[in-house]
Amino acid sequence: MRQLAKQIFNKSGVLHLCRRRNRRAIRILLYHRFPAPWRENLERHCAHLASKYTILSMTALEQSIRERRQVPDNAVVFTVDDGYRDFYQVAYPIFRKYNIPVLFYLTTGYMDRECWLWGDRLRYCFRNTPHQTFRAVGMEFSKNQQAAGLERLREMAKAAPDAERRRIVAEFESASGIQVPERITADYEPCTRDEIREMARGGIEFGAHTLTHPILSKLPDAATVEREILGSKARLEAELGQPVTHFAYPNGRWQDVNQAALATARRHFTTATMALEGLNSPETDIHALLRLPFDPDHPIDAFERRLAGFRVAQSTAPPGWPA
Ligand SMILES: [Zn+2]
Repeated sequence: MRQLAKQIFNKSGVLHLCRRRNRRAIRILLYHRFPAPWRENLERHCAHLASKYTILSMTALEQSIRERRQVPDNAVVFTVDDGYRDFYQVAYPIFRKYNIPVLFYLTTGYMDRECWLWGDRLRYCFRNTPHQTFRAVGMEFSKNQQAAGLERLREMAKAAPDAERRRIVAEFESASGIQVPERITADYEPCTRDEIREMARGGIEFGAHTLTHPILSKLPDAATVEREILGSKARLEAELGQPVTHFAYPNGRWQDVNQAALATARRHFTTATMALEGLNSPETDIHALLRLPFDPDHPIDAFERRLAGFRVAQSTAPPGWPA
């Protein structure tokens, strides 16, 4: 939409009607990173949320649904995936200011700085490679087209069996001429354990997000799927000294979640979230909740429309899911 049309749309009451029509929808927001230049815009998101929506913790939402109490109109749950340190540095003070409860899903091997998130290894190599162009895994990469190259590479890696994914990452790193340092660099580092404990005391909820962020459906067997999921749950419970009852599937598309992952989530967690777009209702499978992915720089007009439920793509499980 053109700028003027957007403004008319948002101010004319159409937005209000849209929100009213979708008032029973449960919106679960998904964020990942919070670069400092996006701070102001994130604050706009939060101010809008605080003024027009009822923001619940995931635990409060789950209890309402389980006890068959009515979920408040225009309910929103705020979730953040992975464990990046910019959550603490940039976003947490804003969430505190607006009194927004957040569920922060942590990949615990990454939290413990035992591994990088594998997508970041690729980004790091691309950013630092001395080669203008190079070939790896049957593809040509150019420093001028980083975003597109990264996207193709990540899609290829995600579709591969787990061992093959690791091989693809290793081949790309080697072809880029970059040795990824063992110590995670500042751009990609996780929250420290002190920061996590401080946020837990400050009301942030924590959820499990596996040990190493694999594509669960590409792991070799059910035992490995269980180890990835329950290992992160146990690690977080030890860190926080309290039960961890929420889980997010890494990458979170239908094809990334298999029978073993769903069964483990059902047995050991009260809720589990996908990364796919959609609104939820109390009837939605509580172990396959849909989300609304956003970046903190999402323009406020578009943010307001999407949150109201305007043109939200409603993802539905394919027949036979999960395989
Ligand atoms: Zn993730």
